Amino acid sequence: MIWQRLKQLFQAESELQNSAETIVVIGVHKEELAFGDEVARHLDRTLFSPFRIASGLSARRPRTDQLEQYLTNHEQLYTQIADHMPAHCKLLIDLHCRLKAEADADIFCASPDLLNRISESFHTRFPKSDARLRTIRMVSDADLCEWDDTHEDKHASGHLLSKPELPEVVWRATRPAYVGLEIYLDHEGRGEQENWDLTLQILSAVRSAILD
Ligand SMILES: [Zn+2]
Repeated sequence: MIWQRLKQLFQAESELQNSAETIVVIGVHKEELAFGDEVARHLDRTLFSPFRIASGLSARRPRTDQLEQYLTNHEQLYTQIADHMPAHCKLLIDLHCRLKAEADADIFCASPDLLNRISESFHTRFPKSDARLRTIRMVSDADLCEWDDTHEDKHASGHLLSKPELPEVVWRATRPAYVGLEIYLDHEGRGEQENWDLTLQILSAVRSAILD
């Protein structure tokens, strides 16, 4: 399984040498690949290059006794992805989906300033959109401890907080900058036109907020 995945990553690496500056990773979770493929079909390839993980990990939470292995597998896969990013890649967008929650999409990033810019960029480009977007700041245990010590208001930036399950060197990197997207669907599978449209809108807002 790991070898099969590595082989695919190496094949993808040669394709990525001519990629756009923004790379969209699809299929980290195998249950979400069908949705990722639909989004990839609609991408403007001059601006975005998809990076397809053909045999991703399961998105389902493991039993407690398998949690450690599950986290290790995630860490390995993300390390491999990061290792395969070409030098000219400035933005890495990690696309996920799951079943409907209280929002239409969540946008994850380590930098509160970038989250503000993404949100502004979205509302400037799509002023009529009624999509419910949540911006989520990725934080480490060390950040939380530091804030506890200094009594700094964790929520001062106005974003929700989340501790990611991927290596900090990936999500805190500035080149390529890491942005995670979680798009909420009504049904499992490929999603529907409105989900793909919203995803493309968010991708363009993220790209322009970070690269323009
Ligand atoms: Zn996922």
